[in-house]
Amino acid sequence: MPIGKDDQELPSSDITRRDFVGGALLGTGSVLLGMASPAAVRRAAAQTVPSPMTGLGPDWTGPGGVGDYAQSNGNTAEVVNAAHGAIRNHALDGGIAHASETGETFDLVIVGCGISALAAAYTYHKERPGSSVLLLDQHPIFGGEAKQNEFEVDGYHLTAPQGSTGFVVPLNRAKDVGWGTHFTTDLGFPDEFVFQKPTGLSRDILVPHDAWFPMHIGWQQSDTGFYYEGAGWAKNPWRNGFAGTPLSDSSKIAMLGMDLYRTPPVREDWAQWLDSITYQQFLTDTMGIRGEALQEVTRYINPVAAAEGAGLGADVISAYTAYNFLLPGVIGYWRYQNGGIDPTDELYLASFPGGNAGSARCFVKKVIPGAFKGEYRLADILNSPVQWDQLDRPNQPVRMRLSSTVIEVVHADHSDSPKGVRITYAQGKKLYCVRGKAAICAGPQQINRNICRDIPTAYREAMQTFHHAPMLTVNVAVRNWKFMERLGIASARWFEGFGWWMSLRRNMEIEGQVTQPLDPSKPVVFSLYNPFVLPGLPFEQQCTAARMQLFNMSYREIETGVRAQFQKMFGDYGFDAKRDIAGIVANRWGHAYVVAPPGFFFGKDGKPAASEVIRKPYGRIAFAHSDLSGQQMWETAAQEGERAAQQILEII
Ligand SMILES: Cc1cc2nc3c(=O)[nH]c(=O)nc-3n(C[C@H](O)[C@H](O)[C@H](O)COP(=O)(O)OP(=O)(O)OC[C@H]3O[C@@H](n4cnc5c(N)ncnc54)[C@H](O)[C@@H]3O)c2cc1C
Repeated sequence: MPIGKDDQELPSSDITRRDFVGGALLGTGSVLLGMASPAAVRRAAAQTVPSPMTGLGPDWTGPGGVGDYAQSNGNTAEVVNAAHGAIRNHALDGGIAHASETGETFDLVIVGCGISALAAAYTYHKERPGSSVLLLDQHPIFGGEAKQNEFEVDGYHLTAPQGSTGFVVPLNRAKDVGWGTHFTTDLGFPDEFVFQKPTGLSRDILVPHDAWFPMHIGWQQSDTGFYYEGAGWAKNPWRNGFAGTPLSDSSKIAMLGMDLYRTPPVREDWAQWLDSITYQQFLTDTMGIRGEALQEVTRYINPVAAAEGAGLGADVISAYTAYNFLLPGVIGYWRYQNGGIDPTDELYLASFPGGNAGSARCFVKKVIPGAFKGEYRLADILNSPVQWDQLDRPNQPVRMRLSSTVIEVVHADHSDSPKGVRITYAQGKKLYCVRGKAAICAGPQQINRNICRDIPTAYREAMQTFHHAPMLTVNVAVRNWKFMERLGIASARWFEGFGWWMSLRRNMEIEGQVTQPLDPSKPVVFSLYNPFVLPGLPFEQQCTAARMQLFNMSYREIETGVRAQFQKMFGDYGFDAKRDIAGIVANRWGHAYVVAPPGFFFGKDGKPAASEVIRKPYGRIAFAHSDLSGQQMWETAAQEGERAAQQILEII
């Protein structure tokens, strides 16, 4: 059976991570998110293809904090080894025919327990409460990219997102511009939010209620320091024309010009046109940013674009992706549709303490009420420990089976109208098989093209066009943030070394929940969202090379990188990494965001977009992952899940 290719070719040798460490992959010194030279990366891209990408150990994963998510910080070595071995390398295929039948038949089997899967289960269960649903996920806890890390520091319980963080609010206004979802109401999110105010400050500091917005699109919402190696800190450079920064005059003008640009071409086909060019083409050909100025602008905007959800930088992403993520220049098209108003003046991200882990927990409580003790109450759902023994009980309508890697989804018979599906999954090396009347595959397309064995070529070819970029979220718990107070900043941006962005945030106050502190003398967690941007390579190779960078980093390298970077930036302001860092958790997402190049949204050469092919169910199998939207957010994940469930409701 033909199986997809890019970085997933079958192993030709026994190369493991160890072979890449110490320079073989990207050259020593380039592992810490610095930009590797294009030549090194090209070599790397070629080298990585024949590796089985297994053999990782706990030294790669590192500590996971405390609480429900302690064994599930991102894609751990266990999950990566199992997924690469069983799905990508087909190492267990020989056992499929002999898998133990559990004897169970469900109305619906859902592969995945991320937001799209949970929304699908919720939608189906709401319509058919008497039907049976089984959710299977390879992770030891539900949520997919929407999980959290927890720390105990000096008597405080701190929570921070592992990946997915915020939802767009105000909810009513978000709905007006197409970003809202009825799920916020269904899940009982409040209509209005109160955010804590900082305490104990010896000077005024503007702290945002969201750690993402001041990355760029809402820079005015935070006091932000820019750190330039060799030149030190510049405070709030957007407010004073980059005075005090080492940028050349032409770069300063280009940066300001980028942010002030208000009038992209008015044309009927603006959306299709944006999707026919890269964002970098828009920056150069439409906005006139070239040469040294372009280098400075992309150095600044690439990590913003990539981390927000585009996955990679301006040179490869569709200009329509940039529009989706409200990036400079193309944001003008939002204003044209919105009576001249910039949506970022009205909308912002609100997040639960653990980000959209909270949204996932709400979905779980709706479909499996016993998953958390007590009634449906936000504070209890966010804070009560998972009742593991309640997730997979016989006779309950919705069941969840974790640490279960699905390796095959096929129709049970090959007639024109098949009666059901057969799903094989691995727990460790043991294989099991369940039956369903229908299935929803809510994993990303690099998984679907490997596990869906009887889909037609058109589906497989469409799935092969999906390439994903990695993200590394590092949660750093510090005992205090007096060093930020001394600098007079709440957020920091830098351009060399490990990472590029960190920010305080004002936590949402939730009735019945103790709000974690926001006081310079008390502990806090900084979430460092790190993309891997390698401009200059074709986008498929960039995705693979970026993933290899992430794969190549041991936990020790990440920890050392964080400590050194914090010490370098904050040492002069009273920070001592040894004394002040209380814990570091690394969360790796090897296939975090789908990268949407030109043509992703509206198709190319007269052909429909690949997502349109996959959004149609095949037989009794529908597809739900948020990568189909080209704009991965929890809202789009929930919408794709709902659509897939509605399709199945029409079939069975
Ligand atoms: C760092 C980061 C920050 C983000 N920040 C935000 C944000 O602030 N706001 C926002 O709205 N969105 C954000 N997102 C994006 C958003 O959270 C995701 O798009 C969404 O949660 C994805 O949900 P999903 O169900 O589509 O996919 P996933 O979360 O990828 O879930 C898929 C699930 O399927 C499971 N699975 C896949 N294959 C198999 C198999 N063969 N067998 C068993 N299980 C399988 C996986 O283990 C996983 O749990 C962020 C994402 C990342 C990575």
